[in-house]
Amino acid sequence: MKQVVELDRAARRITIESGMSYGQLCPYLDQQGFALHNLASLPHISIAGACATATHGSGPKNGNLSTAVSALEIVTARGDVLPIARTRDRDTFQAAVVHLGAIGVVTKVTLDLQPAFTMRQDVYLDLPMAQVREHFEDIASAGYSVSLFTDWQKGRVNEVWVKRRVEKDAPLTTSKDFYGARPATANVHPIMELSAENCTEQMGVPGPWYERLPHFRMGFTPSSGKELQSEYFVPRRNAVEAIAAVERLRDHVTPHLMITELRTIDADELWMSPCYKRPSLAIHFTWKQEWESVSKVLPMIERELAPFDVRPHWGKLFTIPSAELQQRYEKCAEFKRFVAQYDTHGKFRNEFLSAKLYG
Ligand SMILES: Cc1cc2nc3c(=O)[nH]c(=O)nc-3n(C[C@H](O)[C@H](O)[C@H](O)COP(=O)(O)OP(=O)(O)OC[C@H]3O[C@@H](n4cnc5c(N)ncnc54)[C@H](O)[C@@H]3O)c2cc1C
Repeated sequence: MKQVVELDRAARRITIESGMSYGQLCPYLDQQGFALHNLASLPHISIAGACATATHGSGPKNGNLSTAVSALEIVTARGDVLPIARTRDRDTFQAAVVHLGAIGVVTKVTLDLQPAFTMRQDVYLDLPMAQVREHFEDIASAGYSVSLFTDWQKGRVNEVWVKRRVEKDAPLTTSKDFYGARPATANVHPIMELSAENCTEQMGVPGPWYERLPHFRMGFTPSSGKELQSEYFVPRRNAVEAIAAVERLRDHVTPHLMITELRTIDADELWMSPCYKRPSLAIHFTWKQEWESVSKVLPMIERELAPFDVRPHWGKLFTIPSAELQQRYEKCAEFKRFVAQYDTHGKFRNEFLSAKLYG
């Protein structure tokens, strides 16, 4: 199920079958003169799966990828076809978009579009953490999408990826100094030591939105789910304190870490989104394959971030006890009542949902 069902040019919307990935959809959209508002770090993931877990990119004014959903078609446990649309079913819609697979099988997804745009990305190296503390909001807003990569050592952010829209007649230049960081002189990988071959083009070279918003190129197979990843969302107003809290744990974190990425995401109204009603900072960790050690570090991070009402990414590893997790989602009980209407006998309940939402 990987076909385009309908492109509604006038309404700026596209309906696709749910097996389609962003990598399949984006070149087609671009050819048709349209774009999505944002993308995750890689385009290989399915649109339905990404939206089910509130997958996100970056940009203080960009909601997560689920915020582009304007309608869904779901086959429920009873085999009924349930159409849900933003304009028609307000509350149901806000409950259904980030659904964690709990409601039924999504068969179609409709997404909001915008006119296609051109972007460039510039990378800066060695941004002092002191500058992040002083100027967090300015740094996070320096582009349409900004990512900070750090290994938490030496009081610095290793790389800053600034993705900017290129508007006609307004040429952009790379400044020689970015809050004390220096421009990279060649394409780099988020982990400096790795080859940049599978990374999207940098060095300010303009290109289509879908070849600049993700960090990784479509043509390369990603590491097929072998990563250990965690990500924690805190309110953006607590960003600096939360970063400092993790930095204090650096000697526990770094030995098991490939890299951390810091991104901002706008607030939304989707019940089970980690950004529900709060503009957020997301602190991501790509871990080495050392689960035994990582599983001991996660509770430490979660304890440090608890004062900020931390919410974990649904699609990544966390150890927050289920009672605590459910408290952090004010709509959790309502979501479970909503799910029960369509899946009375828990046909779609799996190990993860049983442990985290019903445990
Ligand atoms: C290398 C890598 C990079 C990543 N980068 C990012 C990133 O930049 N930002 C970010 O936020 N996340 C990121 N993630 C996490 C990723 O976006 C989520 O795990 C996402 O859910 C993956 O989508 P998927 O297509 O693999 O979906 P799946 O893992 O297949 O699905 C996710 C869940 O959605 C449900 N689902 C999927 N399809 C359907 C359907 N048709 N009907 C009903 N339910 C369905 C299922 O319950 C499933 O458990 C990354 C993951 C990897 C491995």
